[in-house]
Amino acid sequence: TKRNPAEPEFLQAVKEVLESLEPVIEAHPEFAEKGIVERIVEPERVITFRVPWVDDSGKVQVNRGFRVQFNSAIGPYKGGLRFHPSVYLGIIKFLGFEQIFKNSLTGLPIGGGKGGSDFDPKGKSDNEVMHFCQSFMTELSKHIGADTDVPAGDIGVGGREIGFMYGQYKRLRNEYTGVLTGKGLTYGGSLARTEATGYGLCYFTEEMLKDAGKSFKGATVVISGSGNVAIYATKKATELGGKVVALSDSNGYIYDKNGIDLDAVKQIKEVERKRIKEYLTYHPEAEYHEGCSGIWGIPCDIALPCATQNEIDEESAKKLVANGCYAVAEGANMPSTPEAIAQFQSNGLLFGPAKAANAGGVATSALEMSQNSMRYSWTFDEVDAKLKDIMVNIYKNTRDAAEKYGKKGDFVAGANIAGFMKVAEAMMAQGIV
Ligand code: NDP
Repeated sequence: TKRNPAEPEFLQAVKEVLESLEPVIEAHPEFAEKGIVERIVEPERVITFRVPWVDDSGKVQVNRGFRVQFNSAIGPYKGGLRFHPSVYLGIIKFLGFEQIFKNSLTGLPIGGGKGGSDFDPKGKSDNEVMHFCQSFMTELSKHIGADTDVPAGDIGVGGREIGFMYGQYKRLRNEYTGVLTGKGLTYGGSLARTEATGYGLCYFTEEMLKDAGKSFKGATVVISGSGNVAIYATKKATELGGKVVALSDSNGYIYDKNGIDLDAVKQIKEVERKRIKEYLTYHPEAEYHEGCSGIWGIPCDIALPCATQNEIDEESAKKLVANGCYAVAEGANMPSTPEAIAQFQSNGLLFGPAKAANAGGVATSALEMSQNSMRYSWTFDEVDAKLKDIMVNIYKNTRDAAEKYGKKGDFVAGANIAGFMKVAEAMMAQGIV
């Protein structure tokens, strides 16, 4: 707390991991001897920089840029860029820290990093977004590289922003390399990357449900958010036989008891970049409510929070429990507060934590890196099959690690432990660095 004042999200993420690791540290005194814990909570490198740009009215704007290169024990730093007004160092550090364990869980050779800016793409013209992205990349390009650090998208950073940043990187460095993932399909992107986080979340959830004798089939599902993760989670949950009845954005939520019409949502969010309440122009029979947290009061069997951190507090969790929800899996990063997780676990709900459940996005980003290195492209079905395999393995490793350390059914502990072991062993082998 003293070393990281005023960074509550980072402290929350670290506390959860360290609590889970207690039995591991006890069983492995060599980790304590070599200062693994002290080293793993300290980023290898933190970069902050000025991002000046000129808006459409000719006014100079100044944002703050970040890249936290947290841990490179098992591979080049890898993790998304978030553009949102709430971004500050504590948010990027929490996300970068989580990313270390998530990336390890995928089984692929990627270290942990995260970055972003307090820039808000909402309401900006394409021209303004391009100028911002070019300025941001002008500085970031000095610190990243295909074998050093490979950023991707996150909140506020989708195909458009990645395209502008990739163009600027190529122009500055004069090299055509896989330095970013989430690229367009005409310039090195991987099929199924856009879908990967949402699809992966549903593959993980289906596996978790299967182990408990349940499935998406016939289940009522509530999903928060209406961005990249939420849209493709809705698609896959529906394909697997669930009925998704709600989605949201930062203004409010829609409830359609007949099941969400995803084509309408994609038109509103991906094409027109408008608010979710526009859904009523397509489906006037649906309901729209202002405010985000009311969404958790809708009765459902499965809840998939896919918007942002700490969106489910204790009160919302109690509503889900009271309504008979039996599974929660996190598409967003750290969407449940510690009190909410305690509610889920003490009431016997299946709970899939973000590190494990949403790792499909970064896993597919690593597959994009492989394809770029090989100068080759796999088909959609090939990538999707690899993604599914990865998610099934993540579930099994998470479940088994929890059981091995006496925490059967506690997938929070399982994911933290399974993710930690590989990184800790690599750090041990590489000496005190
Ligand atoms: P998008 O920007 O595409 O969508 C974010 C969605 O969440 C939007 O509907 C947005 O609403 C809503 N949202 C964002 N901030 C808030 C807030 N403070 N309060 C309420 N709603 C909010 O981002 P993604 O779908 O890519 O990311 C969603 C979550 O998934 C994040 O936690 C991200 O870290 C995580 N994630 C994403 C991955 C990816 O591959 N994209 C991979 C792994 C995790 P509005 O439009 O009103 O802002």
